[in-house]
Amino acid sequence: MRSIEKIGFIGLGTMGRAMAGNLIKGGFEVYGFDIDPAAVEALMAAGSGSAPSPREAARAADLVITMLPNAPDVEAVLSGPAGVLAVAAEGRRLMNCSTIDPAEARGLAALASGAGWSYIDCPVGRTAADAAAGTSLFMFGGDESDKQAVRPVLEAMGNAIVDCGAVGQASTIKIVNNYLSITAAVATAEALALAAAGDVPPEAAFRVINNTIAMNGHTKTNFPKKVLAGDVEPGFSIDLAYKDLGIAMAAMKREGIPCFLGRSAQVAYEEARRRGQGSRDWSDLYNLLRTLWKERKG
Ligand code: NAD
Repeated sequence: MRSIEKIGFIGLGTMGRAMAGNLIKGGFEVYGFDIDPAAVEALMAAGSGSAPSPREAARAADLVITMLPNAPDVEAVLSGPAGVLAVAAEGRRLMNCSTIDPAEARGLAALASGAGWSYIDCPVGRTAADAAAGTSLFMFGGDESDKQAVRPVLEAMGNAIVDCGAVGQASTIKIVNNYLSITAAVATAEALALAAAGDVPPEAAFRVINNTIAMNGHTKTNFPKKVLAGDVEPGFSIDLAYKDLGIAMAAMKREGIPCFLGRSAQVAYEEARRRGQGSRDWSDLYNLLRTLWKERKG
């Protein structure tokens, strides 16, 4: 028998709505909250209950999941009289799936534990399409009993669960992974812009790249399925990629690890944001490179 049946889900954006939808399909009772009423209505149409505040989402639940942009957003929904932690813990658990700084994850766990709540550090890997298909990868850290309790919840939303140890360690692995994918997106956009400038069709470029060590997730799936298919609706937005790059670089600075590539990638994301591309898919970096190329050619 599952020890968790009722879930308060806070943050119903690209990822959260898909994840909460899979929990409903998995037979969980879900209470959704988002500052955007349209996001709540969309989840209600899929069978959720609604909660007028984070506190009410928590009151109705055995487990609260947060899927918000960044740590200050998580802290905002935990705090204050309408916040999650205003509800007596009584065995309830809090699981943060947003991508945040590992040091901030430990800070949020301390905040939760001050109110008697246990905290599971559980960022999500793979794409928005995976979240929709229920094939996300979860990395989790926390107490053994908490990890055991949330496992069936994660199995309803994904098909890979990696135990990373304690709170903070899962968030560390997440930003390590994102540092690689976020810098690789810039390299991929630059390389494909060079291919286009040489009149090489993308299909030919991918047939070569994806059969050599140069391949990466962007060349295998992301760029072909998104920007090169004419779709720049955000699976993962340029703004969120920029946020995660900043988190990784701050952690590297704390550890004394140089990040030559990160600094260069940051320039590319800043230029995309300056040109109004922040809310588009990160593969739209390709269009940035194409635009810059055309501007320079005159
Ligand atoms: P998103 O911007 O689409 O959704 C965020 C949601 O949070 C929005 O609906 C917004 O209205 C809501 N929100 C913001 N502040 C709030 C508050 N105070 N109270 C209630 N709701 C609030 O972002 P997303 O793409 O769903 O990403 C969410 C998190 O997951 C981020 O940390 C991101 O880095 C991470 N992530 C994203 C992907 C991806 O492919 N999109 C993959 C893995 C991890």
